[in-house]
Amino acid sequence: MADLEDVQTVDLMSELLRRLKCAQKPDKRLIFIGPPGSGKGTQSPIVKDEYCLCHLSTGDMLRAAVASKTPLGLKAKEAMDKLDEMLKKRGTGIDKVLNFAIDDSVLEERITGRWIHPSSGRSYHTKFAPPKTPGVDDITGEPLIQRKDDNAEVLRSRLAAFHSQTEPVIDYYAKKSVLTNIKAEKPPKEVTSEVQKALS
Ligand code: ADP
Repeated sequence: MADLEDVQTVDLMSELLRRLKCAQKPDKRLIFIGPPGSGKGTQSPIVKDEYCLCHLSTGDMLRAAVASKTPLGLKAKEAMDKLDEMLKKRGTGIDKVLNFAIDDSVLEERITGRWIHPSSGRSYHTKFAPPKTPGVDDITGEPLIQRKDDNAEVLRSRLAAFHSQTEPVIDYYAKKSVLTNIKAEKPPKEVTSEVQKALS
């Protein structure tokens, strides 16, 4: 941790203001749901900052846990199962579910052009959202990677899994009247406006 004496007063003040602003915001529990490439990862950091939320990417968490097969990975899996149980017992406790609705045909171009900064989850796109320098994260300057499963062939099976396993979850939330559909095919800024409107 940094020594407080090394932190500029102006930075301390802006952090204090940020915390004050956050303390006044109501707690919100949101779920972003949608097929791979629908823009969840692009929109969530914006909402996270605006509403002072904590962003959990369940996809990233699961992938990391399964891939590691370490005791920690197994524990992560156990913890997620427990969380599921808790949510089942207590009701969802979810304020809003945003469904990133999009036609499958758009997703191949999005997925094959996606580049990711692994530690933050920031995503870029060679055509739609290019980084300032190709292959490099704008903020940290660290290298970007392409996910191994971000290719046309694997996408087909990921989409089949989405339709058979995730769509029933969308129906479940629709019946609970917490679901808002977001037109995820629009340009990123317009999607952000839709998301903000749904949350206001
Ligand atoms: P998800 O998290 O839902 O899998 P991402 O947010 O990572 O999707 O977006 C997938 C790819 O599409 C990324 O490369 C991203 O830059 C790009 N993208 C995201 N939203 C849009 C949009 N509205 N229009 C065009 N490209 C987008």
